[in-house]
Amino acid sequence: MIPVNEPLLGGRELEYVEECVRTGWVSSEGRFIAEFEKAWAAYCGMEHGVAVSNGTTALELAVAALGLTPGDEVIMPAFTIISCALAAIRSGAVPVLVDCDPGTWCMDASHVAERITPRTRAIMPVHIYGHPVDMDPIVDMAAKHGLSVIEDAAESHGAQYKGRRAGGLADLSCFSFYANKIITTGEGGMVLAKRADHSERLRSLRNLSFRQDRRFYHTEMGHNYRLTNLQAAIGLAQVENIEEHIRRKRWMGQSYTEQLKPLTLINLPVEEAWATNVYWMYGIVLSDDVDYDAIEFASRLRRKGVETRPFFLGMHEQPVFQQMGLFVGEQYPITERIARRGLYLPSGLTITEEEIGKVCSAVKEVLS
Ligand SMILES: *Cc1c(COP(=O)(O)O)cnc(C)c1O
Repeated sequence: MIPVNEPLLGGRELEYVEECVRTGWVSSEGRFIAEFEKAWAAYCGMEHGVAVSNGTTALELAVAALGLTPGDEVIMPAFTIISCALAAIRSGAVPVLVDCDPGTWCMDASHVAERITPRTRAIMPVHIYGHPVDMDPIVDMAAKHGLSVIEDAAESHGAQYKGRRAGGLADLSCFSFYANKIITTGEGGMVLAKRADHSERLRSLRNLSFRQDRRFYHTEMGHNYRLTNLQAAIGLAQVENIEEHIRRKRWMGQSYTEQLKPLTLINLPVEEAWATNVYWMYGIVLSDDVDYDAIEFASRLRRKGVETRPFFLGMHEQPVFQQMGLFVGEQYPITERIARRGLYLPSGLTITEEEIGKVCSAVKEVLS
């Protein structure tokens, strides 16, 4: 079986982790936390970095930093991971969905305006599978209506929008460094902020809202969402190597596209003229001319030794949210379609040319 994802740990990870162990700096203090935060914020073109325990807690803290009140609304794509909706709900806010673009599979900016109400406080674009969202219309709309923008750039480390990095295009941005992301700390995440007041609030919420002036005296409910120095040590080594990670992902994406583009029965990832796709995962979507769905497609590929993963199921179709009475009667046709007809192919950072060739042969055989 060719694995779907594999990290690349080819730099100074061991050396840095060894330093943590040797010096005893293994918890959430130590030089690597601050250095990792600084390096990642600088790479993305943001002012402040606040390292946290994972991408889900990064989103939770970013929403919490806005200080929303119950009933406030956060606009986000229907096609995303559940972490986005959870972050809004756990802040007492209501997630409001928009459908995605059929080409990029990212939030369709042209549907955002019709979802704005007097309760809207924020927009949360998610850069899907390595391709950035068309951000300018979203940022303009947010400015016009006085809304905050939180980017979820967990899948798009290093991707570019009009020459600027994903995660450097809004007030706040969130990253995951889970083992399948482009750079990893095993488990981990970060919130980047432009504003110092956001950064301070994030730091406080990350660490149980201890006060600087009086340690065990609390004026709000914080969290323990700290990252360890051990994880940040790996993270710093990964950032030092990110150009190699991106080079590999782009080579993988372009190799797949080269070999699969003659096939008319599948849609491939796109790269808009204003974007640099980092192909976090190489997704493909079955055309309507195929008379089976992605689940059947995946099992046919598995029989040929190719492991795949399904696309996200839309937030409005999640039983947990339906039971809560959310999104009743709402439909997002593009999201519904790609959720049923999309999957992603092996996209690990260590995939070889030969493995890509095998995967493409299997896809061609199944579709022939
Ligand atoms: C992976 C991911 C997350 C969640 O990150 P975790 O570290 O697994 O909590 C959030 N958003 C997106 C878009 C992701 O792909």
